[in-house]
Amino acid sequence: MSDALKPPPIRVSRATAPQAAATGPRRIAWSGAGMAASDGAGVKLTRVIGQPALADLDPFLMLDEFGSDDPSAYIAGFPDHPHRGFETVTYMLAGRMRHRDNKGNEGLLTAGSVQWITPGRGIVHSEMPEQEEGLMQGFQLWLNLPAKDKMTAPRYQDIAPERIPVATPAPGVTAKVIAGELAGVRGPVEAGATEPFYVDIRLEPGAALTVPLTPGHNAFAYVYEGQAEVADGVLERGRIGVLSDGDSVALTSASGARLILVAGKPLREPVAKYGPFVMNTTDELRQAFADYQAGRF
Ligand code: MN
Repeated sequence: MSDALKPPPIRVSRATAPQAAATGPRRIAWSGAGMAASDGAGVKLTRVIGQPALADLDPFLMLDEFGSDDPSAYIAGFPDHPHRGFETVTYMLAGRMRHRDNKGNEGLLTAGSVQWITPGRGIVHSEMPEQEEGLMQGFQLWLNLPAKDKMTAPRYQDIAPERIPVATPAPGVTAKVIAGELAGVRGPVEAGATEPFYVDIRLEPGAALTVPLTPGHNAFAYVYEGQAEVADGVLERGRIGVLSDGDSVALTSASGARLILVAGKPLREPVAKYGPFVMNTTDELRQAFADYQAGRF
């Protein structure tokens, strides 16, 4: 999803220094709400990562939640736009969205499906709703690629709902494992350098579990239904909790909740970002623009 209407300024951040990985349970390092935003041809969404209060969380560049049963909030969709230098991960909870790209890929995202696109050196694609009414709900996550993979050949993974396994790691808990592993259940996404972990967890009232997380990887939880106790904090619907370092996170919910829990290995590389292009230097951004305008995607 590109900010086609109002391109943001070029943003450059420097590489961060690695720190010794911590063990022990993780805590909430920061929590906050998403911000109302509009993208594509006017789709209303909530920007959770990639907003002023939470610009990014290496290797995550953006997290959008979309969810509306009002067609005017989504019907215009995301017409043709480019991407280079990172991955886009769309997880549909409800609704139907048609994807088409200039590499000949086409797919229909239905409820419970995941689309994992690695644009690498460049694709041009559209993401358009294939419904005129009813609920459209889901997430799009932007995952950075390391410098060595930014210009890789474009790759497209369309994952049907039945290919996403469900783990039952504790009584009253079901978890769809999209990427990484939970309770011996491995997700279908073939992941790269950022070693992503992405699960969609449903907690029945009173359920509790502890999820192991790789020390040193950045992680967050986002509650999209109900209210959950995440580590030492309470997250209401619509709030993200960025976790401190550690080897696990405790989750409970007195009243029931649904949340996504996501983690990844930080790249610690400089980030130069302009709309749908995410590179390491401003020169590479200029090149991305020139290549796109010359039709070289
Ligand atoms: Mn897109």
